[in-house]
Amino acid sequence: MRVGVVGVQGDVSEHVDAVRRAMEEEGLPGDAVTVRRPPDLAKVDALTIPGGESTTISKLLVKFELFDDIVRRAGEGMPILGTCAGCILLAKEGDDQVSKTETRLLGLMDMAVDRNAFGRQRESFEGNVEVTILDKPFHGVFIRAPEILRTWGGCAPIGKLQGRIVLAQQGHLVAAAFHPELSGDLRIHRWFLRLV
Ligand code: GLN
Repeated sequence: MRVGVVGVQGDVSEHVDAVRRAMEEEGLPGDAVTVRRPPDLAKVDALTIPGGESTTISKLLVKFELFDDIVRRAGEGMPILGTCAGCILLAKEGDDQVSKTETRLLGLMDMAVDRNAFGRQRESFEGNVEVTILDKPFHGVFIRAPEILRTWGGCAPIGKLQGRIVLAQQGHLVAAAFHPELSGDLRIHRWFLRLV
């Protein structure tokens, strides 16, 4: 199994590490590789989109000709895990800031996001997320985190922090408003790999 990590901007190496460790813990043979160009994408079975700055990542995906390929591959069933900025990009609807910055969203999941719902960088925090697919809460790291305001259609909320949606799933697509790659707890990555 080859899992790609979109490597245009953001916490790329943390994602590569987390995927590799999760594979090891699950006893799955395979590797995590950085995806920067279309030929890299063609070689992977699944993708993660890291945290970073959603406007920048979106622009670079267009520039490096990955944007349309990711949309097409997702349509063909390629699993994607998007965290934080990656979560924003997976959404169909953004907030005012997304429109003002003319950020192109991949628009793959039936959900609306508020890009900086939990405040600025210095308001970053950690908190326990109640996750329906895990038996114990997940300690989430929130950095300028978005909120998933609502979901519809095929998308379902599967994780909440104080009643606010911070984790959602639509079949093979998963969006986390926090950073599961940063907390040392690999349960979300391991669950995602089992989806793959
Ligand atoms: N809120 C940020 C954005 O708009 C995302 C923050 C993050 O990925 N840590 O892109």
